[in-house]
Order: sequence, then structure tokens, then C-alpha cells
Amino acid sequence: MSSKGLTAALRAIEGLEVTPDAPLGSTTTLRVGGAAELLVHVFDRAALKLLLAAVAEFGADLLFLGQGANVVVPDEGLEGVVARLKGDFVSYSFEGDGVRAGAAVPLGQLARRAAQRGLVGLEALGGFPATVGGSVWMNAGCYGTETSAVLRSVELMARDGSTILIGPEDLQPGYRSTSLQSGDLIVIEAVFALEPGDSKAALARLDELNRRRWQSLPSGRPNAGSVFKNPEGDAAGRLIEDCGLKGLVHGGAQISEQHANVIVNLGDATAGDVVALMRAAREAVEKRFGVVLEPELRLLGRLSGSV
Ligand SMILES: Cc1cc2nc3c(=O)[nH]c(=O)nc-3n(C[C@H](O)[C@H](O)[C@H](O)COP(=O)(O)OP(=O)(O)OC[C@H]3O[C@@H](n4cnc5c(N)ncnc54)[C@H](O)[C@@H]3O)c2cc1C
Repeated sequence: MSSKGLTAALRAIEGLEVTPDAPLGSTTTLRVGGAAELLVHVFDRAALKLLLAAVAEFGADLLFLGQGANVVVPDEGLEGVVARLKGDFVSYSFEGDGVRAGAAVPLGQLARRAAQRGLVGLEALGGFPATVGGSVWMNAGCYGTETSAVLRSVELMARDGSTILIGPEDLQPGYRSTSLQSGDLIVIEAVFALEPGDSKAALARLDELNRRRWQSLPSGRPNAGSVFKNPEGDAAGRLIEDCGLKGLVHGGAQISEQHANVIVNLGDATAGDVVALMRAAREAVEKRFGVVLEPELRLLGRLSGSV
């Protein structure tokens, strides 16, 4: 790709904010990794279409990020364009017993606003860092609820700029998985189907679930939540803990002493440190229990497939 040519082309598009060589790791919850060759903030649909056309023309890599709460950015950074949705994508509106939300809306904020209006259904999904887009793409879930279970529809944009409206079943939702993970469609909007309920009780539930959530996670250290998916009928954290790996340190990263399925950044961790701990945990669990753990964290760029 001609980075200069692409930068100039993107800078000419209204509704985009373009930053070359933008530190990226520090904008993720784990706080590891290098810079994006080009970081692009996208403020509306028209600009998104033009971004897609320019990226196709220059043959550049393109990756969308939400809050960066489930990703590991490689230490050498990411080539091509990393895009984050802003502006129009951060707006939402209540429609009867549903809420239509742009892909960049923080899910926790949406859950609270819905509860305040006496609309229930999102409380269990309000306690972890996520955008609407990231949680739809991941089928994020907690306390027995998954994102797909409260969705009415999802609007996607394809790389040719066309939009597609799908229902939750079209996502083929599974445990932290959707059909979106094997393609390059972009989540631009979602409509959640909620139910009328008691506002006070919904807010109390949201607070109680949040409190429980944060009690079970390491506090004060950057992390990205669960590292591995739980194997059927078991917990990845138990398996890792039973291998004696709780507290294991590699460089600046540690398998949390509080929760063995979480890796924390002690202050100066690299993506390499995180990957080394993931490999150590995976190998130990396979050796001791014959169980192959599958990463829940998305290892980006050159790290893809490295664990
Ligand atoms: C403290 C903590 C607790 C957590 N607890 C939970 C939990 O209980 N349950 C749970 O499921 N997860 C949990 N997570 C993980 C994380 O919060 C979820 O996976 C969340 O859905 C990630 O959302 P995001 O916006 O940060 O997505 P990102 O991490 O930015 O992206 C995740 C993936 O989605 C893709 N993506 C993001 N936005 C779009 C878009 N608009 N279009 C297309 N692709 C997109 C990205 O390319 C990436 O591959 C936790 C994380 C932390 C830090």
C-alpha cells in the first residue's frame, strides 16, 4: 500500500479524522501493543462508505475496533487502517419497547438509560466494557444472557458500501461467536428488543450485577477480561489454576492471582508477554487435562493464530 497516497485520499474525505502512526495499545483495556499505521475516526455513514472505497482502491488492511476490551495489539503495531466509529454512530433512540443504537454506543450506558426508562433486558450486559458493535460481533455475554438474545436486528455494511439488515438468527450466535467473525462485514447499528419493567428494580439489578462482576475480576490492573473460552462443562480459570499457574509472571504480564483466566498488565507488559503466558497456560492445561483451550481474546495482526 502507498501509505502517503492513502493518507492523502482519506484526509480529503469529510467525516474522517486521520492520524498516522497512532499509538493503539494504550487505547485498549489491556494497554499493550504498538501503533496503527493509520488510525481513522469515522463520523457518519457517507464517510464510512468513502473510507471503504479508498481502502479497497489502495489494497490496504482494514480493522474496526470498539473499546478495545477484547483485543491484543501486536508490539510492532498494525499495518493499514484501524477504524473507530464516532459521531453519528454514538447516538441511540428509544422506539416503543426497543432501542436503536449506533455501533459505537457503550453498551453499559445503553443498559443504564434503558433501565432508567423502565425498559429491561440489558442489565446483565451492562457491566463490562463494550461498544454495541463489539458486543454484537463477539456475542458477548454474562450471567446467562448473550447479546444475540436481546437483539431484534442488526444493520451491517459490506466492503462495497451496501447495507444489509439481518435478524439475530442470521448471526448464527454461539458461545462468544457469530458468523461475523469469519467475514469482513461491519456492524453499524443494532436494535435491541426490551420489555417494560420496573425502573427502580432494573437499576438495582444493574448495580448488583456490576458489583458482582467487578468483585470477581482483578481490580486496578489493565486486562481484557477472560483470556480463554470455557470448555464445555468446565471453567478455563479452574483448569489453569489447577496447573498451578495463578500468579505466573512473564515480563510485565501476570496470570491474575485473583482469577486464573485473566491476564493483567503489571505496568510495562508487552503483547509478547501476554502471548507467552497464554501459550504457557494452554500447554499446561493440554498436558495435564488433555483439554485444548480456545482463546476468547482476539489476537490481532501478526499475533493472529499464534496461540
Ligand atoms: C474487565 C473486563 C470484563 C469483561 N467481561 C466480559 C464478560 O463478562 N462477557 C463478555 O462476553 N466479555 C467480557 N469482556 C470482553 C469485552 O468486554 C467484550 O468482548 C466486548 O464485547 C468487546 O467490545 P469492544 O467494543 O471493546 O470490542 P473490541 O475489543 O474493540 O473488538 C472486539 C472484536 O470485535 C470487532 N469489532 C468491534 N466493533 C466492530 C464493528 N463495529 N464492526 C465489526 N467488527 C467490530 C473487532 O474487530 C474485534 O475483532 C470483558 C473485558 C474486560 C476488560
